[in-house]
Amino acid sequence: MRTGILGGTFNPIHNGHLRSAEEAREALSLDRIIFIPCYLPPHKGENDVASPNTRVKMLELAIEGNEHFEISDMEIKREGKSYSIETLGELNRLYGEEEELFFIIGTDSFIELGTWKEYEKLFSMVNFVVVARPGYVDGLKDSSPAERLPVEIRVDFCYDSRFRLLKHKSGRVTHFLETTLLDISSTNIRKDVSRNRSVKYLLPAKVERFIEEEGLFKGIR
Ligand code: ATP
Repeated sequence: MRTGILGGTFNPIHNGHLRSAEEAREALSLDRIIFIPCYLPPHKGENDVASPNTRVKMLELAIEGNEHFEISDMEIKREGKSYSIETLGELNRLYGEEEELFFIIGTDSFIELGTWKEYEKLFSMVNFVVVARPGYVDGLKDSSPAERLPVEIRVDFCYDSRFRLLKHKSGRVTHFLETTLLDISSTNIRKDVSRNRSVKYLLPAKVERFIEEEGLFKGIR
């Protein structure tokens, strides 16, 4: 089984997440995508983060009816700051033997990887799939994919231009996908909601309705 992993705050989940997951699934013939909402995001302030249960509820509404999409509450159960090194370790213990894991992240997160806990170990634990995110693509257009990696670990990779992938010395690979650029962010959705602006078509209608009914993201700047 080939399993994609998409971690995030999902505050709220939006069509940028969903479409990237769908395109990664199709491009790499993944059998399923597991969305893993964090408990506490290590790189973001805690202000304005809806409760884990609320974020899970929005995820459930968003993926309803999609047989390839699932949700895991492993980071929420673990509590504390949600570090990918721990999540991927747990996933490897759970599925590593019989499944090939693909860790999907946006370009904005990928170029920040050097700040993640024990990031250098992540590349030997899973394959990476980097999906395009507007605003983070142009600046990288002329650079080789290896230049997107933290300097200290570039020597551990070689680039296969035919398949647009970086091969790690462990045998794992990092794919770069030219997914549809959707300039949608949870931050902007929260801002729009707080200013009573429409967020229609930026996220699934059921999630939009839930945000409205629950009065989420009203009081933020
Ligand atoms: P925020 O605006 O609150 O920082 P976000 O919209 O970036 O949130 P996250 O939940 O932090 O959403 O993102 C989870 C993952 O999804 C990250 O790897 C991020 O790069 C990726 N991602 C988020 N939005 C998009 C998008 N529009 N296109 C592609 N990838 C995205």
